[in-house]
Formats: sequence, C-alpha cells, structure tokens
Amino acid sequence: MTFPKLKKSLGQNFLKDEFYISKIIESFNLKPDDTVLEIGPGGGALTKRITGRVKKLYAVEIDQRLIDNLEDKISDDDFVLFNEDFLKFDLVENIQEENIKIVGNLPYHVTSPIIFKVMELASEVNNDKLKIQSLTIMIQKEVAERIVAKVNTKAYGVISVFTRFFCEPEILFDIPPEAFFPKPKITSSIIRFNFTTGNGNLQKVKDMKHFRSVVKTTFLNRRKMLRNTLKAFIDDPGLITTVEVTKRPENLSVADFISLSNEIYLL
Ligand code: SAM
Repeated sequence: MTFPKLKKSLGQNFLKDEFYISKIIESFNLKPDDTVLEIGPGGGALTKRITGRVKKLYAVEIDQRLIDNLEDKISDDDFVLFNEDFLKFDLVENIQEENIKIVGNLPYHVTSPIIFKVMELASEVNNDKLKIQSLTIMIQKEVAERIVAKVNTKAYGVISVFTRFFCEPEILFDIPPEAFFPKPKITSSIIRFNFTTGNGNLQKVKDMKHFRSVVKTTFLNRRKMLRNTLKAFIDDPGLITTVEVTKRPENLSVADFISLSNEIYLL
C-alpha cells in the first residue's frame, strides 16, 4: 500500500526519531499484564512497539486511509483497531477492562477535548466496567505548561484548574520538532495524568456543571476582580464569604474554586 498524503487538519505529524520513540515507549511504563488504549496510532510508530509487550492493545484512529496500513503492519491477535473519532468513541461500551492505560501522540487540534473526555471518564466511570489508571500523552509544550501551572502565575487558567481538580499531572520531558515528519513549528512535551490516587474533589463539589461554569466565567475576564465577574451568578458578590472578591481568578486554588462554587450554588 502506498502511504497516503498526511493531513495537517488531523494533526498528522508522525514520529520518526528512534531515540525519542524509545524514550516515549519507556515513559508509558508498560507491563505484560497491561491493557492499553492508544489514541491516534497514525503510521504505527508507537503502536508496533506496544503490541507484544502488553496483554491487549486497543487503538482508535479517525483516518480511514491509515487503517489498512496499520492492519497490514500489525497482525497481533491482541490488537484491536477502531476506525473512529476518539471524541465520539464509547470507551465503556467497547473496552470493558479493569485497568487501562491510555497513551498517544495527540492531534494538536483536539488536545483539550480529548484530555477532558478522559479525565471525566476516569473520575466518573471508575466503576466495575472500566477503570482508567493513567493517561500519558504527547501534547504541545505550551499546553502542558498551562496544565501544570501553579496558582498566582500568568499561565494558570481554566485547563490548570480543571485538570488539577482530578489529579496532579506531571511533565516528563520535551520532544523537539525534528523528531517528527512533517516537522511541526512547536516543541512537544510528554505529560502524565495518574488517576489511581483519587483526590476526592468530585465528592466535595455540590454540582459539577456549576463548578465548571464558575471557573470558565471568571477566567473569561482573568484581569477582572471576582466582585465584577461573579455578577453573572449573584446580584451582590459582596455577600460571598468563602473567598475575597477583590481577588482575580488566577489567585484561586482548586480548593478555593470548589468552596466558591458551592457557596454560590447554595445561595
Ligand atoms: N501516533 C502516531 C505517531 O506518533 O507517529 C501519529 C500521531 S499524529 C500527531 C495524530 C494521529 O491522530 C493521526 O494519525 C490522526 O489521523 C489521528 N487523529 C486525529 N484526530 C483524531 C480523532 N478525533 N480521533 C482519533 N484519531 C485522531
């Protein structure tokens, strides 16, 4: 089969550097008993090094043109390939496993929705049908830095609060543009989200939808004080007691946002 022309619109920058491919595989910390789900296997650079090392590998690739090539390259019985959009893919229906590790070199255009989908599943679907152990992915360095940004810094924002609501993500290492074909303009990072040590935040929040809305609305105007932005929820933000309303959203920790959204919810 001739390899199809790569699509920029699907974030198709494929790994070609053996040194980084090995380093990334090592970072997945794979064990023979693992069940792994790879998002966007593409040309199979990571996929063919995962099969044979784990109990079962699932992969979800949106681009139909890459599917035959992947099936030709990888004929392992323990490899199951889905030709689907990961954002629409039903993990609970298709993968009923006790403990899965999710990995991938993510398409840049859908990095955040993919992370949010996995995080929400990891926290809500931690039932006997599907348990997500970790998510180890390659994303833009700039997004990785925003995710791990600390409170009171410029990079701290909606994605930092939402991800840290669920777990403590860590950046493992960077990957230069030269490691890919075609070469992207930006540097990438490997970031790991570990869901095994639950932090109990989901139980603390009174209403998740409301929590999300408070975080998003206040960060829409990150330079404005809360006493202004909270008018979207309450006529007189001066009544708020859980946080100082002269603060800005970047000054609130995840715990502060939980207290604030609970207070407004109950008012
Ligand atoms: N894993 C390969 C590698 O490292 O060389 C390819 C990585 S490439 C950055 C991203 C891959 O995700 C592409 O193969 C692309 O077709 C696929 N992709 C893009 N959007 C997707 C989606 N919504 N669901 C599943 N796969 C998607």
